[in-house]
Amino acid sequence: MQTQVVTEQEIWDALDEVVDPEIPVVSLVEMGIIRAVILDGARVVVTMTPTFSGCPALEVMEGDIKARLAQMGLEDVRVEKALDPPWSSDWISDAARAKLKGIGLAPPRVHGGDFIAVLDAPVTCPYCDSFNTSIKNSFGPTPCRMIFYCNNCQQPFELFKPL
Ligand SMILES: [Zn+2]
Repeated sequence: MQTQVVTEQEIWDALDEVVDPEIPVVSLVEMGIIRAVILDGARVVVTMTPTFSGCPALEVMEGDIKARLAQMGLEDVRVEKALDPPWSSDWISDAARAKLKGIGLAPPRVHGGDFIAVLDAPVTCPYCDSFNTSIKNSFGPTPCRMIFYCNNCQQPFELFKPL
């Protein structure tokens, strides 16, 4: 067995290639789901916070994380879930917000904990940037999303719920 020297930064870089199974254009790192990486010798502990508790993609994510790190020769990987504090949509990186918009998924506004202001604020259409939008259905395809309709370009789109 060859000895490999891996740094925590290299692990972060590798995890940045692991995509969110529900939104495969963004990585778990960009979504703020990966919270911490601890490298102790050849052992790795990755701490993640799912976007909502009971997220069915959790096991998929854990498997993907382990598979990616195994490619670096890291076999002793533990994935821990941290639910407190709960995941916040404020943790989504700017790069990820741009990617979400690119697939017609309106990124959530940064709220800094002030949900009321965010929920009252107009939602911007990801296609034409119009504020002339209305909610169509608060139940999207996943608990993280809501369906909106743009009255300007007449396209339905999804909003990633501020959490
Ligand atoms: Zn529009």
